[in-house]
Amino acid sequence: MRAAVFPEAGRFRGRAAPSFPQPLDSPWMGAVLMRGADLAQRIRADVAREAEELGGTCLATVLVGDDPASHVYVTRKHEAAEAAGIESRDHRLPASTPEEDVLALVDELNEDDGVDGILVQLPLPPGMDEARVTESVLPVKDVDGFHPVNQGHLLLDKPLHVPATAAGCMELLREHGVPLEGQEAVVVGRSQIVGKPVSLLLLAANATVTICHSRTTDLAAQTRRADVLVAAVGRPGLITPAMVKPGAAVVDVGITRAEHGLVGDVDAQVAEVAGWLTPVPGGVGPMTIAMLLRSTLLAARFRRGLLAFPAA
Ligand code: NAD
Repeated sequence: MRAAVFPEAGRFRGRAAPSFPQPLDSPWMGAVLMRGADLAQRIRADVAREAEELGGTCLATVLVGDDPASHVYVTRKHEAAEAAGIESRDHRLPASTPEEDVLALVDELNEDDGVDGILVQLPLPPGMDEARVTESVLPVKDVDGFHPVNQGHLLLDKPLHVPATAAGCMELLREHGVPLEGQEAVVVGRSQIVGKPVSLLLLAANATVTICHSRTTDLAAQTRRADVLVAAVGRPGLITPAMVKPGAAVVDVGITRAEHGLVGDVDAQVAEVAGWLTPVPGGVGPMTIAMLLRSTLLAARFRRGLLAFPAA
């Protein structure tokens, strides 16, 4: 079995690829890697230019507790914001902070005219009502797109703030010219953060969308039909080569910390079957931060009246 992935395999796109397992002399060279790092870098450069034009944009984050991964993510978001010329305010509170104090901080940021975007890093500590806290963010400043107003507009095909990871998946597919219209798209995972919004975005792009989840009885039967497969579960190796339609575009959203580093939901050998594949790390991850910055600029435009935000 070949282990390497050859980006030039794009020449086989749209042609029938052999099924897995393939013989060593197979002409199929493996999936085109949809790398997020380069695209994210370009988006961040555009954001920096636009932030300069807009002037004085600001992103505030609220992190409660000591989840190490959350601290790393929030630090990266601040570094990215600052590199793009977006002011960032970093509020880190101990896990013991009463929910009412977190709500009071969010209120203060809602009222602060100098703040364009607010992000409450999830997960919140056990016992804290995540829905109550995320719903306390003003929809116009809700750069994560988690507020029911933003989720509702996505459902109505009138997106305002869209969850960044879902938006990042779509940008990667667009960048690589993956056909969506009329294609079978299967999304594994139905969370508010990734699975549902990416399903709605694929539907808006005229794909025929199936959503799978932990109670789906025959996952492989669903995924094998997919021209576009999005895995957003958090279970390493859940998607095996035998579950992937040859030539399909596979977006691996999953991130799990393993001994040897970060791993996705998709078995590495899927690269031998798929037409396109996002690597982990370096695929969807970098896109999430880039799209968050883009959302912060969108918030700034809404708040300056440059774009219309519907009245609450
Ligand atoms: P979640 O736990 O909220 O949702 C997981 C979903 O997977 C659920 O809908 C569940 O029904 C489904 N599921 C669980 N087991 C399943 C199974 N055996 N078969 C089919 N479906 C199953 O997680 P989430 O917040 O949506 O995140 C999913 C993954 O994406 C995690 O690994 C997370 O770390 C990662 N993630 C990555 C980024 C990024 O920037 N790359 C951003 C957000 C989340």
